Amino acid sequence: MLYYNLSTYLRNTYGHRLGKLCIDGGFTCPNRDGTCGVGGCIFCGERGAGEHIICGSIAEQAKRYFDSPASAKYREHIVYFQNFTGTYAPPGTLYERYASALDVGGDSVRVLAVGTRPDCIDDERADTLASFITDRRDVWCELGLQTASDETARFINRGYRTARFADAVQTLHSRGIKVVAHMMIGLPRAENVRENAGDVAATVDLINSLPVFGVKIHSLYVMRGTRLCDLYERGLYTPLTLDEYASLAASSISRLRPDIVLHRITGDCPRDMLAAPMWCADKRSVIAAIETRLRAR
Ligand code: SF4
Repeated sequence: MLYYNLSTYLRNTYGHRLGKLCIDGGFTCPNRDGTCGVGGCIFCGERGAGEHIICGSIAEQAKRYFDSPASAKYREHIVYFQNFTGTYAPPGTLYERYASALDVGGDSVRVLAVGTRPDCIDDERADTLASFITDRRDVWCELGLQTASDETARFINRGYRTARFADAVQTLHSRGIKVVAHMMIGLPRAENVRENAGDVAATVDLINSLPVFGVKIHSLYVMRGTRLCDLYERGLYTPLTLDEYASLAASSISRLRPDIVLHRITGDCPRDMLAAPMWCADKRSVIAAIETRLRAR
């Protein structure tokens, strides 16, 4: 095994792979509505990730999935609240939204996963998430860290300081919630300056120092209509080449604690929204390039 990937973890833990329902829970983001910032992170698209999700109420989205042939291929499933900030609502509202998807899936849902920001985790919200843990069901909380550097975080308009990430991880972990950290490779820390190998290694080291269960490594891509796209079009941001990305991703994977599960090792932009780099659209080739480097190590 070149690295501890999600399929291996799911087989070891549940005995088989799980299907995945990605839901738009109707959340917004405090980094867009003015609460902690406006405009959002510079790479964030209009839908705050999950661009492929077909809308509808939460129950409608869940029903559509659980009635579909795609779902029928799996005995059990992950329900993932993907878009925007999945804990950005009062705890009672959060409870209703998560429950409305889980009610449709019933006992076949083995994992409730929620994507959010560390500054939208507090004791009440962590308690709400933890209330969904049962003998049969785990809860994962996916936190958008992207980088350990506060300098880069300012430039990409992340809207919170890195220390918040460490606090949120501890708050969630102490309640038995499994934390998945999102990190990005290729981030700019100023105009015409990208994070270097040392910056990326520092992000991995921060993750290694905390009780993190999983990591998603994203290649930073330029999505049309974003502020990053504006920088790119003005010649102020140059994306990584595939070779540069594969080398940095392989170094990061090798540096990660071996118990940390890699949930993904590249980004996934809808082709019609991708401005650059075009190699991002061929996910298989990207994974193959990373694996070639891992094998060489
Ligand atoms: S925190 Fe997430 S949803 Fe909010 S602006 Fe940043 S990437 Fe978009």
